Amino acid sequence: MKRYTITEFRKDYPNDDVCLDKIFELRFKGLICPKCESDNKFTRVKNRRSYQCPNCAFQIYPTKDTVFEKSTTPLTYWFYAIFLQTTTRNGVAAKELERQLNVCYTTALRMNHQIKKLMAGKRLDKLTGIVQVDECYIGQSLVTMKKSKRAEMLKNNETKFDNKTGVIGFVSDNKEIKFEVMTDIKTFKERVKANVSKDAILVTDSHAGYEGLNLHYKAHEVVNHSINEFKNKNNFHTNSVESAWSILKRTIKGTHIHVSQKHLQKYVDEVAFRMMNKDRQDIMFETILSHVVF
Ligand SMILES: [Zn+2]
Repeated sequence: MKRYTITEFRKDYPNDDVCLDKIFELRFKGLICPKCESDNKFTRVKNRRSYQCPNCAFQIYPTKDTVFEKSTTPLTYWFYAIFLQTTTRNGVAAKELERQLNVCYTTALRMNHQIKKLMAGKRLDKLTGIVQVDECYIGQSLVTMKKSKRAEMLKNNETKFDNKTGVIGFVSDNKEIKFEVMTDIKTFKERVKANVSKDAILVTDSHAGYEGLNLHYKAHEVVNHSINEFKNKNNFHTNSVESAWSILKRTIKGTHIHVSQKHLQKYVDEVAFRMMNKDRQDIMFETILSHVVF
């Protein structure tokens, strides 16, 4: 497999000017000046993070409204932090970033969170083709939880039974993956309709929450796990979404000591992104960076 190496990375992004050019190019390539409508190429303004129209001097700040905007951290550090995230299967923790960049832990943590957001990018469009749908529950059961932690949770009335959080997952046969953390009261059916295109073939287990979806979809194939059926009579199964669950659970267990419900969506988005790009390390840096365009 072709890889994008540190040597290539260093050659591509040696300084902040080059990084800024890259962001400008991604966001504003071929820009027509919004003020004078000239199509002359914008030029870099010296000592500022901006470019201007050679005709009317209108200025554009390419980092505006991006994760880089309010940061005093050099762009080369940001770019390197993004690069690091593409070098290992589960990315690098803030602690490692702190060490490698020699920035304080708070900065490293903030950068990591921002990069996760960038990785998730825009939400994918509704999935098409054959789409497997399933739900899983992540977190610790009250039964196995430390006594003190359990007492604290019950006292705060965080939940009466369990602190597990539901996630619904969608995996299409063209390898698109979406996870949605279920923290509001929407039904399974509403979530499916919001994430899967009407012309798709839906595959689920026999959970009652999915019943009736055949009325909205080209087809709804049901696999009845409760009678040990793993492929239905038309040969449909939910194996892909189930293996996505095992990767998701393993990643959350392996990388993060505790993922709070507040941050869970960001984490599952990152895992989905990594699953979809696992054989594309060579273009992963470019893909993450391209999400600055919105
Ligand atoms: Zn102009």
